[in-house]
Amino acid sequence: MIIDNILEVQDNIFMIRGVKNSSHSYVIKGIRGNILIDSGIDSNFHYLQSKLIQLGLKVRDIDIVINTHEHFDHIGANRYFQEHATIAAHRFAANKISLNDRYVTMYESGDLNTLPLHVHLWQESKSRFDVGNYVLDIIHTPGHTSGSICIYEPVKKFLFTGDMLFAGGVLSHISESGSVGDYINSLMSLNTRQIQEIYPGHGDISKNPAEDLRMAIESAREFLNEKETVSVTYVCNE
Ligand SMILES: [Zn+2]
Repeated sequence: MIIDNILEVQDNIFMIRGVKNSSHSYVIKGIRGNILIDSGIDSNFHYLQSKLIQLGLKVRDIDIVINTHEHFDHIGANRYFQEHATIAAHRFAANKISLNDRYVTMYESGDLNTLPLHVHLWQESKSRFDVGNYVLDIIHTPGHTSGSICIYEPVKKFLFTGDMLFAGGVLSHISESGSVGDYINSLMSLNTRQIQEIYPGHGDISKNPAEDLRMAIESAREFLNEKETVSVTYVCNE
């Protein structure tokens, strides 16, 4: 049950629902450190801070921020954490964030952030965070963007998906650095894992990931076929 925009999805793991155009944030209260997955948009920081306080945490109690990818609605409030917390992202995302590549991070969207953002830990697939009560494995899942990751908990078998996979298999937007082919490949690779629940960056959580994955793969294949038809028509008209 969601109370005040906070949902406890597992023991000591909380979803803070994103408002306005922000992504959700997830807080993992670990025995050996607290993790925030995605900080949301800059202009929502005070909202995020108030939700952390409701969970008994100050901003400085967050030890690690993991960004699921490089888009503004997931990284915008990083600057309030980056002086005391370790910021982690896949190296393809880290590169764009650190170089202040506004085009692909979509800061032109009008979010407030104007300060340089830093990434301390440039992640690869199979990196792991161990906070005692949970371990979190990084899986590189390019497609939505080149630097997209999912974060897998192998004991309870749940998955934080960012903008990679949504409840109901809603097709992810393929943005500038992304690729439909990579997206399908990443979905098929996720499909080989046992996943009980997914915790996405937008929308509802899902307890039926197998069906979400099946629908997303199907929609992405249809999307790819439509793109091919369009490009063949274009070539013929030339
Ligand atoms: Zn995104």
